Amino acid sequence: MAEILNVTPDLNLRVPGPTPLPPEVRAALAQPMIGHRSAAFRELHREVTRGVAEVLRTANDTLILTASGTGGMEAAIANTLAPGDVVLSVSIGNFGQRFRAIAEAYGAKIITLDYPWGAAAEPDDVAAALSTRGDVKAVLVTHNETSTGVTNPLEAIAHAVKSTRPDPPLLIVDAVSSAACVPLETDAWGLDVVVTGSQKGWMIPPGLAFVAVSPAAWAALSADTPRFYFDFKAARRSLVADQTPWTPAVNLFYGLVAALRLIRRTGIEERWRQHARVAAHVRSRVGEMGLELVADPRFASDTVSAVRAPADLDVDNFRRRLLDEHGVLVAGGQGPLRGAIFRVGHMGYLVEDEIDAALDAIARTLG
Ligand SMILES: *Cc1c(COP(=O)(O)O)cnc(C)c1O
Repeated sequence: MAEILNVTPDLNLRVPGPTPLPPEVRAALAQPMIGHRSAAFRELHREVTRGVAEVLRTANDTLILTASGTGGMEAAIANTLAPGDVVLSVSIGNFGQRFRAIAEAYGAKIITLDYPWGAAAEPDDVAAALSTRGDVKAVLVTHNETSTGVTNPLEAIAHAVKSTRPDPPLLIVDAVSSAACVPLETDAWGLDVVVTGSQKGWMIPPGLAFVAVSPAAWAALSADTPRFYFDFKAARRSLVADQTPWTPAVNLFYGLVAALRLIRRTGIEERWRQHARVAAHVRSRVGEMGLELVADPRFASDTVSAVRAPADLDVDNFRRRLLDEHGVLVAGGQGPLRGAIFRVGHMGYLVEDEIDAALDAIARTLG
């Protein structure tokens, strides 16, 4: 099988998504297929919807879409924004740019708030940008910027957005690489639309996007943006019957049940603590190697570390050697950081020995 699929045996997968799968999840994924309109699937759908909402800390409707994270982001935009709507797009890196590009594709008028790659957004700047514009319908923000390894101070940003005016703009959050790994309080922080993707923090393969939709977001749905597959109203009509409108990726739901049971065993706070502990360890090993992070250290991510390569390092060749000689796969840089950094993922299913093995291999390969 491994040969047919050309899968590297014992790959130490340290990219920021897809991430490794726990044995319980792999076993669940291999179960026989069932009909997606069966009572068994409805039961599965009920359990995972409840579990995902629990992890996102929300009582809001939580939709499970068969799509990658970007599909969830597009769904958020297509349902909340109409052409001509004014949007404040806060970007600290590649994924902030992607969210903006989606809004642009749907005809939004964009006000930009950009930061140098490696920095986090300043809540005061968000408040200032909103104070001069009463017509902003929504704010787009990335919780954890995977291209730079920076986690935005989302709670403070949410506070800035929600205290601007009596009917504040919607806050739409890309939580693709943060949810299930770092503290994220959808309801307590007042987040209106939270989007995440299965292959990052959730310990299952790519293919599902989760979107939590607040009552304010439901009330603000745009009527005149064309959409069909990703129509939230269709998803909600099905949700009340424990269904999805279209055929879902059924076996990913099996995997998700197994992953959510693992999360429930320790509780989500313990997973947040584990990610913080492992990330601190990764950062300290990177420091011992004499290397620096891209991130402002105050906002360094607990799910991915973006490491500046030594000036004379050929990053592509380094990554190839890590893979060929040690079976470790790390990511390169994106956009302007291509060739200048490498990124080590530590999100989802964390086996601390494997992370140490990857760090040892990095240290040895750097010489
Ligand atoms: C991975 C990622 C995405 C995109 O997800 P896909 O599943 O690749 O479509 C979006 N935002 C962030 C922050 C990500 O890390």
